[in-house]
Amino acid sequence: MHSIELDGASLDYRLCRSARRTIGITVDRYGIRVGAPLSASLAEIETLLRRHGDWVLQKLAQWRASQIPVATLEDGDRIHWLGKPLVLRCVTDRARSRLRADAGILELCVPVGHALPTTLTAFLKPRARAFFLERLIHYAGKLEVATPPLVLSSAKSRWGSCNAKGEIRLSWRLIHFAPNLIDYVVAHELAHLKEMNHGPRFWAVVEKLCPDWRHARAELRRQAHTLPGLE
Ligand SMILES: [Zn+2]
Repeated sequence: MHSIELDGASLDYRLCRSARRTIGITVDRYGIRVGAPLSASLAEIETLLRRHGDWVLQKLAQWRASQIPVATLEDGDRIHWLGKPLVLRCVTDRARSRLRADAGILELCVPVGHALPTTLTAFLKPRARAFFLERLIHYAGKLEVATPPLVLSSAKSRWGSCNAKGEIRLSWRLIHFAPNLIDYVVAHELAHLKEMNHGPRFWAVVEKLCPDWRHARAELRRQAHTLPGLE
């Protein structure tokens, strides 16, 4: 096992030396694997890892998301809402489900015959949409563009996307993360309305909307694997 500092985070990787000629990076079910010739120096290997840093981090985030086991939640368990812990309290049919964010409690009525995680997802999604929409309107105003249509996805590592029609897709799972991380994803996707690429001009637009984007991006990658495996 070796480790390297990438984007402010320390990453472990397995180094497998063999008679191969080139250095190859893969992300398999055990994490990052680097195949290298016997003669390759550690400096050469690290240079390559850094050059492909974005790709490695992206693959790693996907890998971590795929490791999330399906949630088996019950009364008294905790989930995160906007980065803060919420205790789940199952309430009887008559009471209405409600989010008491200030008290750190989510009261959820799970109908007979329904699973708690599924009920929870159905409860969170519209609230996530409302939160995202408010942020989208805020940043669209700053960027002086019309608020684009918002579509919710269930992606576990591709937090957002923006298509050629100008529709913005955001994963409802972002609602587990702190508002500044959600703001970064919203700003990132909105910036694509101006620049459909990840070039320097694109990042300049992101920076205007979200000066803290580097930190937020690194934090999202770090926290991706902490998501509960809700359906
Ligand atoms: Zn992008």
